[in-house]
Amino acid sequence: MSEALSTRARRLLDAGHKLTHARLTVLRVLEDGGGHMTSAEVLDGVSRLDTAIGRASVFRALDLLTELSIIRPTYIGTSMTPTYVLLPDGHHHHIICTHCHRVIEFEDCGLEQISAELEARLHVKLSGHLLEFYGLCEACLKAS
Ligand SMILES: [Zn+2]
Ligand SMILES: [Zn+2]
Ligand SMILES: [Zn+2]
Repeated sequence: MSEALSTRARRLLDAGHKLTHARLTVLRVLEDGGGHMTSAEVLDGVSRLDTAIGRASVFRALDLLTELSIIRPTYIGTSMTPTYVLLPDGHHHHIICTHCHRVIEFEDCGLEQISAELEARLHVKLSGHLLEFYGLCEACLKAS
């Protein structure tokens, strides 16, 4: 474990929030988890690191991280429970196959310009986006 603050932890501080042990632990579990985790998996990971952190603290930390656009809950697959995805650099993109539910990740969304236009036109300050395309993956296309 590195002592240096991750850029996400720094965003918590910059937004005026304290870096509590519970918040940092939740963030660490999410970062170690590779970007996609259900709340059950987060609870599991947190309790493995520190059994003293309660469920309610974990959910409050998840809510706060969502509020700051560090993570977003998303409903991928057939699960009714959200999967929290990390928004690296404020954005995260999926192509979801409607047939086999495979999730394809991609980085280059090209939405920076649209974001800037929206900010100017609607007088808002955007902190991130989660983009999901739906369709058929290559394997399902070939099989059909
Ligand atoms: Zn597919
Ligand atoms: Zn993803
Ligand atoms: Zn993007």
